[in-house]
Amino acid sequence: MATFAAAMNATIHTPRLFLLGLLIASLSPFAFAQYPGWQQEVEYTMDITVDAPTHRYSGVMDVTYVNNSPDALERIPFHLFFNAFQPGSMMDVRSRNIADPDRRVGDRILGLPEDEQGWVTIGSARIGKTEVVFEANGTIGWLTLPKALAPGKKTKIHLEWDAQVPRQVRRSGWMNAQGVEFSMTQWYPKICEYDHHGWHTNPYIGREFHGVWGDFDVTIHMDAAYMIGGTGTLENPEECGHGYSDGPAPTEGMIDWHFVAEDVHDFAWAADPDFVHDVLEMEDGPTLHFIYQADTAYGAWKELPAITERAVRYYSEHVGAYPWPQYTVIEGGDGGMEYPMCTLVRGNRNLRSLVGVTAHELAHAWFQGMLATNESLHEWMDEGFTSWIESEFLAEEFNESVDAPHYWAYGGYLNLVRDGGEEPLSTHADHYVTNRAYGTGAYSKGEVLLNQLAAVIGADARNAGIKRYFDEWSFSHPGPMDFKRVMERESGLELDTYFQYMLNTTHHVDVAISSVRISADSTVIELERIGKLPLPVDLRITTADGQVMDHHIPQVVTQGHRPLAEGETLLAPWPWTHPTYTVALPASLPGCTIEIDPAGWTADADRKNNKVSFDSGVIQEWRAGANPAP
Ligand SMILES: [Zn+2]
Repeated sequence: MATFAAAMNATIHTPRLFLLGLLIASLSPFAFAQYPGWQQEVEYTMDITVDAPTHRYSGVMDVTYVNNSPDALERIPFHLFFNAFQPGSMMDVRSRNIADPDRRVGDRILGLPEDEQGWVTIGSARIGKTEVVFEANGTIGWLTLPKALAPGKKTKIHLEWDAQVPRQVRRSGWMNAQGVEFSMTQWYPKICEYDHHGWHTNPYIGREFHGVWGDFDVTIHMDAAYMIGGTGTLENPEECGHGYSDGPAPTEGMIDWHFVAEDVHDFAWAADPDFVHDVLEMEDGPTLHFIYQADTAYGAWKELPAITERAVRYYSEHVGAYPWPQYTVIEGGDGGMEYPMCTLVRGNRNLRSLVGVTAHELAHAWFQGMLATNESLHEWMDEGFTSWIESEFLAEEFNESVDAPHYWAYGGYLNLVRDGGEEPLSTHADHYVTNRAYGTGAYSKGEVLLNQLAAVIGADARNAGIKRYFDEWSFSHPGPMDFKRVMERESGLELDTYFQYMLNTTHHVDVAISSVRISADSTVIELERIGKLPLPVDLRITTADGQVMDHHIPQVVTQGHRPLAEGETLLAPWPWTHPTYTVALPASLPGCTIEIDPAGWTADADRKNNKVSFDSGVIQEWRAGANPAP
């Protein structure tokens, strides 16, 4: 498709919208008062009729789209995700050509017979009574407006479509590996997001999503044999039964399932005849639903509600309050995938695994559901931050790795560094050369980035900064520099260099103790920065009689330093231009032990050169490599 050229009209910000924005900002938890001061809005009303035996459904949708941007819009693009599940699609070809294919996909799309492929066909597109052009090309379709949608104006689009649900390959589809019949995610024509960077029309390759905030009113007509769970609250529980109300579910004909969700950027659901339903009403919190196949494994699902409640409380306390009325954990899809107010997870797992995946997907409610960065562009802000808080919660919940909850993230990231397979985190999620570089980058390095930030600004400022980030940016699609600025304001430090290196380069941390000279009246330690990424250095010297002396060496580029711990000595800052740094202590310290980063905050690629111990009573000179370590 040709690139959309918006008629630029950058100066218009109507006073009415501006005032409305201020009013919303002051009253609503869904405020967006931050730069650029506007975002698009959408309101979907959908009527869906499912023909379960053929795995097809028809949809009718009235969608109101509000153009809060300063640009006149001539066309509006939609995602048509199901079209990815056809032989020869971009997703298919990509899956067969990447060096390390996702085994869930591989060449499965190529082998789908016609009745197992996915498609969405727009039958009618209208604005008012006027039929308009809707041109689909793979997983993106463009609707041409009869006249340009001016800044501040809204339009109501009527779409009718037919769709075939693909056999479950990746995330959505019918009949997943555990027999869940319908995993309905990325399933309807969804308007692409438009922001101050323009349209975000990523063809669907397989990962990471982005959408417009809005309200969904979705009615699904489905055979009474099925039970449905999904995004939003069910408006007619009495008619549906199945644990949504005490009444029995109808056993014949069709049930109309009416769901409503406000201030979300997507809508997902799943249906199966064998679903059972547990409900936990949180005090001062959302209602939690657990929907899974009756024969699903090991009883783990019975223990899940209480732990999920603790996770909701943990994330609410450490990030920010959960704002929606419900959250639903649904068995479906493959692995786990987050959606607003719900998740689909593979169900037959032991308790530790089920809790792990649920804790991860639930944490996405904050980072993907409420903060909702463009995760195609900034996957680390979504997957990395989600993984970080998940690790913190699981360490507490299972009382395991409490000293090093991020051990696996550091290990995975550093293995990739050592293998030379790393790609910069600024890479678009779909465009990494390998799946491993994406996965390890987005999840592990993203988790490291947030954890290691404590080495620069201190853990207290980092933790307070996470809450401040949520307060200032939830429901606003923040980007990397927005996050950086929050952390700068919270710490009072300059963080350009940290983020620049961590996001746009593959440089890593490796600081070494290169020489030590212990003489009769002094101890001189030379440090060397082997890895290019410059971080502050914590240097611990433990004397022969066990006295601990901690030193902090900030980087010049932060223009300051983190708060010092009690008894910690501040040394002169280390300029990144200088490969070495000398610490000269006016005391002879024979028998001391010297260690860099004893707390393990930094992802130092070679810890073997971080520590040296000297024999008691010996005054000596030692140089790394020149003579054997003592
Ligand atoms: Zn995730």
